[in-house]
Amino acid sequence: PLGGARLPGMGREWTYRTIGYWYNLKLIMRPVVIAHRGASGHLPEHTLQAKALAFAMGADYLEQDIVATRDDELVVLHDIHLDGVTDVAQRFPGRARADGRYYVRDFTLAEIETLTVHERTDRKGRQVFPSRRPHRGGEFRVNTLSRELDLVADLRDSGGHEVGIYPEIKSPAWHVKEGVDITILVLNVLEQYGYRRHSDPVYLQCFDEQEVRRIRHELGCELKLVQLIGEDSWTKEPTDFKGMRTARGLEKLAKTVDGIGPWVNRLYKLRRRDGKVSDSGLVRRAHEQGLVVHPYTYRSDALPDGFDELGELLRFTIEDLAIDGLFTDFPDAAVRYLQSRHGVITPREI
Ligand code: CA
Repeated sequence: PLGGARLPGMGREWTYRTIGYWYNLKLIMRPVVIAHRGASGHLPEHTLQAKALAFAMGADYLEQDIVATRDDELVVLHDIHLDGVTDVAQRFPGRARADGRYYVRDFTLAEIETLTVHERTDRKGRQVFPSRRPHRGGEFRVNTLSRELDLVADLRDSGGHEVGIYPEIKSPAWHVKEGVDITILVLNVLEQYGYRRHSDPVYLQCFDEQEVRRIRHELGCELKLVQLIGEDSWTKEPTDFKGMRTARGLEKLAKTVDGIGPWVNRLYKLRRRDGKVSDSGLVRRAHEQGLVVHPYTYRSDALPDGFDELGELLRFTIEDLAIDGLFTDFPDAAVRYLQSRHGVITPREI
């Protein structure tokens, strides 16, 4: 049975969970494809071009990571820093903090709009994904959340099919220390654009468990919520991602969220001796609590240990583990896989 699988489309989402247990409707219950920072395997991440391309490739959801500027505008960027994907260091020398980083929060929207966006580089200026085209053209820009939501509305109109959004509130506690309640700003913009009800085509995601609880229980947000689950070793902040992955942790999460976004490496165990991959049980435990599972990140040029090609990872996690969706830099590859394995019933045909 494919517990928790959903089919977005026709302006609302249909849950086939119950039916699925009886009929195992694999053809209908294909997982959703979430374009991770847009079609970021093909064009610079979070640019409008990358989002439009992902839509054209048939992604079901377009992801937005959201950070606040000095003047409390919301921009779509993965990091609280600008230096990984823009020319900020050349354009605004001397504006870095003591740690050498250029913070979004230290720049006005007008300043940020003068920057050009390029393929992600590391601190030494080397491209993080070396096989991707550098694309250093001046046409790639940082965009506001509003501008991106306008594009999404236009794509829906002109493309003639539904597409959802998948916003992530970045580092809400850090933003509060910087003097801005980013969550309130994000919820206001979503509301303005008509994202209000649970059935609307949006998943709101965050790594911060406390903030996710606040969003649901204090702020009364009805949108579908996803708790992202990272590794405790990724941050110096106190987190309990390990606890979240247990049956008890998932039971607790299910009181608040609709799904989890785990690191894909946590879905399986890898036997080092012969490279054999087996189910870790995380997807099943989440499904037992009625949670959907949307793992990250599927990249053909940066595969997790134990997999030699993207098709293998897709096959294992979709067919064997029955995930409900996946974050990918290559929505085209995921859509192609689903079309070949799961037939023609897709939201793209609506
Ligand atoms: Ca994200």
